[in-house]
Amino acid sequence: MVLPQAIINIAYLIASILFIAGLKGLSHPRTAIRGNLMGGLGMLIAILATVAAKKLDLELIILGIVIGSAIGAVLATRIQMTAMPQMVALLNGFGGIASVLVAGAELLKSVLNPETPDPDLQTLVAIAASGFIGGVTFWGSLVAFGKLQGVVVPDRPVRYSGEQIVKVLLLLISIALAVFIVLDPHDTYLYWVLAGVASILGVLLVIAIGGADMPVVIALLNSYSGLAAAATGFVLSNNVLIIAGSLVGASGIILTDIMCRAMNRSLANVLFGGFGEIVVTASGDDVYGGKVKSTSAEELAMLLETAQRVVFVPGYGMAVSQAQHAVRDMFNLLESRGITVEFAIHPVAGRMPGHMNVLLAEADIPYDKLIEMDDINPTMGQVDVAIVLGANDVVNPVARTDPKSPIAGMPIIDVDRAKTVIIIKRSLSPGFAGIPNPLFAADNALMLFGDGKKVIQESVSALKEAS
Ligand code: NDP
Repeated sequence: MVLPQAIINIAYLIASILFIAGLKGLSHPRTAIRGNLMGGLGMLIAILATVAAKKLDLELIILGIVIGSAIGAVLATRIQMTAMPQMVALLNGFGGIASVLVAGAELLKSVLNPETPDPDLQTLVAIAASGFIGGVTFWGSLVAFGKLQGVVVPDRPVRYSGEQIVKVLLLLISIALAVFIVLDPHDTYLYWVLAGVASILGVLLVIAIGGADMPVVIALLNSYSGLAAAATGFVLSNNVLIIAGSLVGASGIILTDIMCRAMNRSLANVLFGGFGEIVVTASGDDVYGGKVKSTSAEELAMLLETAQRVVFVPGYGMAVSQAQHAVRDMFNLLESRGITVEFAIHPVAGRMPGHMNVLLAEADIPYDKLIEMDDINPTMGQVDVAIVLGANDVVNPVARTDPKSPIAGMPIIDVDRAKTVIIIKRSLSPGFAGIPNPLFAADNALMLFGDGKKVIQESVSALKEAS
């Protein structure tokens, strides 16, 4: 199949428009599925146009699409919702390694073939950039996967003296290697040395991070994978790859910025690494000793009966216990009794951006009931009952009071200002950041110990019995 260049360009343009419209669709749960499909269709068009433009072996490409789609579909359907960040980390990594291999192959192809001219300056710079960014992304993402999955690498930050110097040295060596590659591309082994040094840098950058900072790293690696793809687009002179890579790079960096703000980390702090160190904080005994009061599902039902405004604050525990459908039943019951029910959404609640939105949308909670942290916080003082469901770090007042805490300065949902706070979780164990939460011992707080779904179901039954 040989198509004129004008048709190929139009196909690339359509693919790019589909990518942009797809990203727009992904920004809202109602349009997310359509957005996803548009992105997929754009990618299919881009691949077919490239096959036609480069006169590639269609059967081989179809085989690749079928195998890749099958693996992707199995991964996506089998993955637990709570393990989504790990999967995103892996996908980022795949993007990185693809860029390393494609740029490397392109270098070998042009340099080793005496009949083709050497790559020009722009292509050589792009090849070096692909190898470097792709190497950092691949290995950084694998380490992020290991940390989140709890395999091979410790999830706590691995720190050692002089680590920043080591990283700066590796960066300088990478730049020097890139310069050598651009000056003389015939020493092709230098490209693989560059990818190797970048890989070590990727491991060291991410291994030093832990605790509550991992989401920022995942978003940043997502951006890196886009930049690597864009660089490879320049290597191949492929416009749609440059556009798609830039979109991923830009959206990843925007997401990084949003996450940084949500977790009170500056972007410079993220880019230069060395954050996420766990600081020893007060022990659980100091914080809770004799001050924690517990309650029951029946008492929660009684409290809710007299409430006018109830706010749920969902967190990771709601995802673990899959309580969203039980929450929807409680929401319907309370609303049918004229009680105003809202959901306070913290940007990093759960284990991936938008985690709570996805779960609540899946349970058909009306989207206008989901209120962003900044919008609900000013009115938290007028809330009769705040139900913290499997959330911990995102409601931990230590973020406001202890400048040494690992979550210092992270904006939180101000549940402590509600008249009564009910915290549903199984124990007094800490959340992701590993620190005690003085909210559990506050005067207006009651702990309701148990699995999130079970407790909500019991409370719904108690509410029904009381009527
Ligand atoms: P946390 O991790 O702070 O706390 C979750 C709580 O859920 C735990 O204290 C746990 O307590 C409870 N829990 C676990 N299982 C159940 C269950 N079956 N039923 C009831 N409760 C349960 O969650 P938050 O959502 O408050 O905060 C998110 C944290 O994760 C932040 O620190 C954030 O930085 C980090 N993070 C966020 C990502 C994102 O993109 N959103 C990605 C990666 C990390 P117990 O064991 O006692 O039940």
